[in-house]
Amino acid sequence: MVAVGEYLFLIIGIAVAVLALLAGLVTTRLRRPKRVEPSSSRDGLAPPAEPGVGADEVPGLSTPTLERPESAATRLVRLRQRLSSSQGGLGRGLLALLSRDRIDEATWEDIEDTLLAADVGVAPTQELVDRLRTRLRVEGTAAAPMRQILREELLALLDPTLDRSLHVDRSNGLPGVALVVGVNGTGKTTTVGKLARVLVAENKQVVLGAADTFRAAAAEQLTTWGERVGVSAVRGPEGSDPASVAFEAVKVGVEQEVDAVLIDTAGRLQNKTGLMDELGKVRRVVEKQSPVTEVLLVLDATTGQNGMIQARVFSEAVNVTGIVLTKLDGSAKGGIVVAVQRALGVPVKLVGLGEGADDLAPFDPEVFVDALLGESA
Ligand code: GDP
Repeated sequence: MVAVGEYLFLIIGIAVAVLALLAGLVTTRLRRPKRVEPSSSRDGLAPPAEPGVGADEVPGLSTPTLERPESAATRLVRLRQRLSSSQGGLGRGLLALLSRDRIDEATWEDIEDTLLAADVGVAPTQELVDRLRTRLRVEGTAAAPMRQILREELLALLDPTLDRSLHVDRSNGLPGVALVVGVNGTGKTTTVGKLARVLVAENKQVVLGAADTFRAAAAEQLTTWGERVGVSAVRGPEGSDPASVAFEAVKVGVEQEVDAVLIDTAGRLQNKTGLMDELGKVRRVVEKQSPVTEVLLVLDATTGQNGMIQARVFSEAVNVTGIVLTKLDGSAKGGIVVAVQRALGVPVKLVGLGEGADDLAPFDPEVFVDALLGESA
């Protein structure tokens, strides 16, 4: 009898444990951050979902753990090292050449070659070499340490006076709207996800629009980025009109009074007319509700001249207001920052420095130049 009683307790115990486990799973699923699924609503678009939900506190219920993204200030410090290891060769190479006892024509040619090899571009390279030549002739090499001269001239080349702030704030009762454009594969969707985290770290309410409806995985990818930090993604069926998705995302953003709506656009078109048509339409429908406050062009730093061609096509098709240079961790050719800014007349605002979720940092010319030159002496 005693043995049967013990078994009974054991069986009841196991049954209770299994039930508790199942209940836990069900509540966890129910309480995932809300995500907008495709539905039969207008244009087959998803209905609005509350942004920033998912971590609301209800005592006794398990809540999903939302990630806490890193603040902009600390990520810059953390990523400085990565910038230094990928870009340091350029600065150290230039410094070594300029520190020679005698700087002859061959040395100036080597300096030019070093700059060109790092994708600085022909005109900016010539400009830098001319300025350095003049300074060394007028001031001589004793006036200031060579590192300081080079630092000043590289900084001037990057134009530290440009406004690099992101215009994605709420104003006049409407959310800021950023269109993120660029060719597929550059890191566009990843950048939208990372940018959402930057804004969440600043306690901003964000909605994402998955208007890259042509790449099968893009909407799913964006939804996952959002879910990790409690941000909703509005999406439509694959192949649907990107402008409808963008419209719906901004509608949700306006209704829910969020701070920013970030829209991932399709990057399959490389010819100017097609791009103008598509991005023009996205912009027009978005602006029926709220002005587009930022157009970010995503460029892959490793693609060099090809990236520059893409940059020109996009800037002719849409009014780009800021550049995001991705994969700078995987390229020693950081000179493209200078080249692309010059070619487009638009500042680099953000740089991607890795595949990690918080490996996107505001572009700071001083930090960049210091990374090129190594720690100050
Ligand atoms: P999209 O087609 O332009 O939307 O490109 P994705 O966002 O899907 O990114 C393409 C690939 O680039 C992915 O494997 C990303 O992890 C990778 N990627 C994006 N940004 C960076 C970066 O800054 N550094 C590195 N190393 N990889 C990146």
